[in-house]
Amino acid sequence: GGYLILAGEAGLPILKANHEAQIAEGADIVLEDAGQLARRFSWLSTEGISAGAYGRGGEGWFDAHALLMLFRKALRERRIDFITASVTGIAREGSRVTGVALDNGETLEAGIIVNAAGPNAGKVAALAGLALPVEPRKRNVFVFEAREKYADMPLLVDPSGIYVRPEGSVYLTGGAEPEEGDHAPDPNDFEVEWPLFEDVIWPTLATRVPAFEAIKPTRAWVGHYDYNTLDQNAVIGPHPEVENFLFANGFSGHGLQQAPAVGKALSELIVHGGYRTIDCTAFGYERVAAGRAFRELNVI
Ligand SMILES: Cc1cc2nc3c(=O)[nH]c(=O)nc-3n(C[C@H](O)[C@H](O)[C@H](O)COP(=O)(O)OP(=O)(O)OC[C@H]3O[C@@H](n4cnc5c(N)ncnc54)[C@H](O)[C@@H]3O)c2cc1C
Repeated sequence: GGYLILAGEAGLPILKANHEAQIAEGADIVLEDAGQLARRFSWLSTEGISAGAYGRGGEGWFDAHALLMLFRKALRERRIDFITASVTGIAREGSRVTGVALDNGETLEAGIIVNAAGPNAGKVAALAGLALPVEPRKRNVFVFEAREKYADMPLLVDPSGIYVRPEGSVYLTGGAEPEEGDHAPDPNDFEVEWPLFEDVIWPTLATRVPAFEAIKPTRAWVGHYDYNTLDQNAVIGPHPEVENFLFANGFSGHGLQQAPAVGKALSELIVHGGYRTIDCTAFGYERVAAGRAFRELNVI
């Protein structure tokens, strides 16, 4: 299924601007008004909706763990060594990093170090004496059952930021965490916050899809966004002063879809000394050093 991003009056200019960028790149995404959306999706309530951008083809969702396993399998065939240990120290000589210390007592020399530590990336950068504004931010995902099954339901994003999509015979939903007070993350906090479902998500879902008035939550889990507090966007490429320390961090909840491109870009940087197929310069650390935000609008 594709994505259906909905906007009310306030979000309409951003939705339109994003849609223009998408179609300029050849994406099969249509911008429809409330009437068109109501005709396309009979189960949808367009109350408070001005328009929606719907990906008709060439987009969708996939199983993150399966993707990871496919990459691992492909790497094994290319004689990559996997080491299961935690990096606890990074050695630095002047403007170069030279190796890492592991929690199993080993040390490894390194010509290049890539920080790909997800929500822990800020702490790993700090081991090299480098500042990176990336920290874990708790996110709840809820699973629910509903009597009605809508085979044509895309991943629907409400203007509130709450999303829902079918997953086999059930539905997944989330996106209710408030921006305000979303601080002091404890990286070991995996406690599900059920009130978010009861008080925020369910009423929103019931408004957007009236049949979801009667649903049954079954289970839930918590993950942590690899949250870039500067601009919720990726930091990719070398540190300007410590050039053999590379960042692949701060994806802030949209790293999975970017992962294959980021991996390719960084491998080109390492092998050829420059980006070839995809230029990630705009995501460079320079903006972090300058405190200059590079925002992606309409991310969840
Ligand atoms: C609830 C939720 C929903 C999401 N939904 C989406 C979505 O719809 N679309 C999307 O594109 N993205 C989504 N994301 C974001 C996406 O999962 C992340 O951006 C992505 O997984 C980041 O990949 P990564 O490889 O950079 O980091 P991770 O997958 O976090 O991997 C980091 C790895 O580094 C290891 N590590 C950390 N510290 C150390 C250390 N000191 N030494 C050694 N190893 C270390 C960790 O153990 C881990 O294996 C979601 C995230 C969450 C939490």
